[in-house]
Amino acid sequence: MTNPPGAGRFAPSPSADLHIGNLRTAVLAWLFARSTGRRFLMRVEDLDDRTHTDIADRQLADLAALGVTWDAPATRQTEHPQRYDAVVDTLARRGLLYECYCTRKDIAQAPRAPHAPEGAYPGTCRDLSDTERARRRAETGRPPALRLRTDTSTHTVRDVLHGDYTGLVDDFVVRRGDGVPAYNLAVVVDDAASGIDQVVRGDDLLSSSPRQTHLARLLGHPEPIYAHVPLVLNADGARLAKRDGAVTLAEIGVDRALAQIADSLGFSARTVAGMLPEFDPARLPRGPWVYLPG
Ligand code: GLU
Ligand code: ZN
Repeated sequence: MTNPPGAGRFAPSPSADLHIGNLRTAVLAWLFARSTGRRFLMRVEDLDDRTHTDIADRQLADLAALGVTWDAPATRQTEHPQRYDAVVDTLARRGLLYECYCTRKDIAQAPRAPHAPEGAYPGTCRDLSDTERARRRAETGRPPALRLRTDTSTHTVRDVLHGDYTGLVDDFVVRRGDGVPAYNLAVVVDDAASGIDQVVRGDDLLSSSPRQTHLARLLGHPEPIYAHVPLVLNADGARLAKRDGAVTLAEIGVDRALAQIADSLGFSARTVAGMLPEFDPARLPRGPWVYLPG
């Protein structure tokens, strides 16, 4: 019996134009999906950047210009806010959420258990009584965030490039105080809703994947296959950013960008379709790509 083909995706946030590193990650996501017979989908992660429709349009146009193709119209997270609300309600009904009144500063200054993992939420609001909760709500005077009660500390994910990766699962935020669904919730809900079973993205998100698979499991969704690909660095060894200059498709030009991406991956082809038969995950460079414009 064969399973129906799943899907891969690229999920840009429209905060700024895509730079050569983002474009390379998109090409890799497309290659991973197509080389395994998967569909490829495009999702604009605009919960945080609701007004940047011009940037989102440019991002999609740039991807299309490179030759990246997708099999359904691109979706935008802001098209279906009820999708996230429904999941938050479900988790709340299951008793898995609690209100958190902490500011960033509160969290940074909270006393920690001696061996508490670095970066974990210290649990300040986890076990408050109803009275304490009412007091904190009145004191802070702003709507609380909602955190997931996780009752675990780590989860191991399997990554095509990193092997087994064990990372922190703390009581993470699923809905922010301003009412916006948190990234970790949105990504799990959206991937499941679109039948995504292969997640290829930058390796800055590897450490988020244990939280996401923990939530996916709670919601009864299968864990996707992951490939967290190396980021692109500038000449100073810092993560490439738009301010480095000459890093967007408009600045580089399509042909040159394709040549740079192909060279960085060891391909002789100069189109994404041509890279497909050359693509072999086992031979991908494992280290970051240092991008020197020109
Ligand atoms: N929207 C995220 C970003 O642009 C990517 C999220 C994901 O691929 O899970 O960094
Ligand atoms: Zn708190």
